[in-house]
This record gives sequence, C-alpha cells and structure tokens, in this order.
Amino acid sequence: MNEPTVTNERVELAQLRGVSKFYRKGDETIKALDGIDMTVAEKGMVAIVGPSGSGKSSLLHILGAMDRLTAGEVIVAGQSLGTLPEAGLTDFRRKTVGIVFQSFNLIPNLDALENVMLPMEFNGIAREARRQRAQQLLSRVGLAARLKHKPRELSGGEQQRVAIARALANDPPLILADEPTGNLDSKTSQMIYELLKEIARERTVIVVTHAEALAELSNRIVHIKDGKLVA
Ligand code: ADP
Ligand code: MG
Repeated sequence: MNEPTVTNERVELAQLRGVSKFYRKGDETIKALDGIDMTVAEKGMVAIVGPSGSGKSSLLHILGAMDRLTAGEVIVAGQSLGTLPEAGLTDFRRKTVGIVFQSFNLIPNLDALENVMLPMEFNGIAREARRQRAQQLLSRVGLAARLKHKPRELSGGEQQRVAIARALANDPPLILADEPTGNLDSKTSQMIYELLKEIARERTVIVVTHAEALAELSNRIVHIKDGKLVA
C-alpha cells in the first residue's frame, strides 16, 4: 500500500487532480481550494506561499488526511485519500505523514523524550525501541541534552525541534509543516528551515509560509491565491 506511484519513470510522492475544498457557511459556499493540479516529487522541500485565506492550510489538511476533499483526486504514497475508508485514513495519518504546527502542539505534561515516543506507541513499537529511536531523533535535532525537559522548560525554537523529531518518529515519507516558524524570531526561523531542508534530503517536506525569504531555502516554491495555484 505504501508503494509510491511511478509516472513516466519519475517517482512521485503525491498527485493532485482537480482538488477542491468547499466550506458551507449558511447560504454561502467558500471555495478554499478550487481545482488544484499538482505533482510532488519524492524528496525535497516544497514551499507553499500565499496571502492569508488563500487556502494554504486547507491544502495541507487535505494532504495530511486531516480533512476530506470536496472534489478531485489526491494520491499520496500510492493511497487515494478521497476514497480511503476511515480505518485506512487512520493508518495513513500514523505512518505516511508527520505534521509540524505553528504552535508546536506538544503535550505539556510529557517531557521531550516522551513526546517523541508517543506516536510510536500508537504504531505498536516496543517501549525500549521507542525510547532509543526518540533519543536518536532528539540528538539529530540538537536536543540530546534536553530529553527530560517539559515543553514549558524549552524555548520556542527547542519546542519546534521536539515537534520535528516527533513528526519523524514513525519515519513517514512526507512531512507537512504549517507556518512552523510563525511564532519564532528570524534567527531561530532560519535554523528551523535549515533543519527542515536537511530532513528533505531523505523525504518530502511541504512547508507553508508567507515569508518569501524562508521559502527561497526550499527546492520549489508553489504560489497559491484564492484557492488556485498561480504561475
Ligand atoms: P490560509 O491557511 O492560506 O490562511 P485557509 O486554508 O485556512 O487559508 O482558508 C481558506 C479559506 O477557507 C478562507 O476563506 C477561510 O476563511 C476558509 N475556511 C477555512 N477553514 C474553514 C472552515 N472550517 N469553515 C469555513 N471556512 C473555512
Ligand atoms: Mg493557514
């Protein structure tokens, strides 16, 4: 099920065809996404840039199976998200994507190590293996000396590093990050982008930002406006 689809001998991680997401608000229909066609290659960092309300988060939610599309087709790592039953979507969220949020979303009463171990528990990994992998991941993001720190005992940049380690816990081929540096100063933001770029050497990272300077660190920039991709 996790085999990527191969088109014209090029390996694609994700394909979107005519993807739309409409929200109903009373009598009004809001077209958050309006016919998106896009192919995302395996590996590398893609930045999604656009003004507030342009549909960036909606697009990420569809790609991460956090929300259902209204029309079109989305295939990620060989799985068609529009038709996958609920159990398949749960499995997809667990194994195929890792998500990084603007507000870090760490569990406050768990320390850094426990936060990174948690997704592996949902994935049925034995405790000692979880602990070892979490430790390795936290070392990789430069936090080997912060394993026992609770989120409130960490800086914003450190919390986002923990969140990135957590997103990598189940070794997903796709990392989605929605304005991951929105709460960070510019120097810390730069460091977080460099970390994401390094991670993108071995998997696909899709990052939403409205900071053009940071987007330029990525391998590809996709512009979105009013729910449509713009050239
Ligand atoms: P962005 O992340 O680029 O700021 P969003 O994807 O969050 O944009 O939103 C795109 C559009 O869809 C906006 O007009 C927003 O108000 C609307 N929208 C987003 N989520 C909902 C929702 N749950 N219900 C109704 N409208 C929504
Ligand atoms: Mg958004």
